Amino acid sequence: MGATHTEGVYHVVIVGSGVAGLSAAVYAARADLEPLVLEGPEPGGQLTLTTEVENYLGFPDGVGGMELVQRGKEQAERFGATFRHGVVERASLEESPFALELSSGDVLETRALVVASGASARWVGATNEDEMMGYGLSTCATCDGAFHRGDDVLVIGGGDSAMEEALFLAKFADSVTVVHRRDELRASDIMARRARENESIEFRWNAELSEIHGSQETGVTGGTLVTHPAGHPRARLEDGKSVETERVDVGGIFYGVGHVPNTEFLAETSVERDETGYLRTEPGMATETAVPGVFGAGDVMDPDYRQAITAAGTGSMAALDAESWLEERALEEESTPAAALEASQ
Ligand code: NAP
Repeated sequence: MGATHTEGVYHVVIVGSGVAGLSAAVYAARADLEPLVLEGPEPGGQLTLTTEVENYLGFPDGVGGMELVQRGKEQAERFGATFRHGVVERASLEESPFALELSSGDVLETRALVVASGASARWVGATNEDEMMGYGLSTCATCDGAFHRGDDVLVIGGGDSAMEEALFLAKFADSVTVVHRRDELRASDIMARRARENESIEFRWNAELSEIHGSQETGVTGGTLVTHPAGHPRARLEDGKSVETERVDVGGIFYGVGHVPNTEFLAETSVERDETGYLRTEPGMATETAVPGVFGAGDVMDPDYRQAITAAGTGSMAALDAESWLEERALEEESTPAAALEASQ
């Protein structure tokens, strides 16, 4: 790493400032580890894109996503955590202290590392999506839905995120069409029922978006849908099978097709990741990764539950595990022959 080492060695650096990172920061700060939280490209994480959180324990009337993370940050700061804007480009984890190279070029050193870098919205790969993202194409209905008052819009996906987006958009849009690549939703029964019962929401089964129409000047003006009665039409098209193609006029398109974990900065390290990039941690209730001293928390290591409350839970576990690891390491260092000699002199 050719960049400048700007500070001393931290006890623990937490990468990510969503619920998992904040919870880890509260625990690490209360243990007097003076953690540094690197806020990442989306400070506050995915909750900042949510309006109301109804299922976080302790808030019977719900709580705003932004408010929840803001309160978490204040709580961590109260115990001595510090926050810094910064995105980790590369990590060097051969031995502790570990080195983290930030996009600014600065390098930070830390004895223990908590990776709580979360997951980002997945894109579907439709033609023109790079150009149109932010111009009528969005991955966040709660952020951009209000721009589509009176529009017809598409929501892509069949999981809880897509249902949530569709239900939110139904408050503003004239019509919402959920486009799903199979004929069966992945969403939970309660979310699926709410969407099906909403009169503004329609479903297009066995369909996928292949192209987005419009320009940055006009915004989204439509999309091309491909359909095959057996589902997964784009894969069939790639296999040379014939699919039905239809152009639809819409003023907005929302992706709700899941997330990808933000672990690219660990690509050159020995931290193990699964085939989709999720951190592999030790089996059972553990946050340890394949590299001693590196711990995972939140959505970056959890492809299954992905809830704010579980992220907070694993965040606290990662901080407790980091604290134990640092203590064990300090004891080991004290009992080395060199340390014993020093103590006896
Ligand atoms: P998900 O459950 O993984 O669903 C993703 C959906 O997108 C699936 O229907 C999938 O189709 C489809 N999809 C994926 N890639 C696609 C592509 N390239 N083109 C077209 N369609 C594609 O993700 P999620 O909905 O974000 O939910 C993630 C987790 O968060 C779940 O555990 C969920 O319960 C939870 N969650 C809960 C709530 C809530 O309760 N309020 C809200 C949001 C999320 P297939 O079904 O064919 O795979």
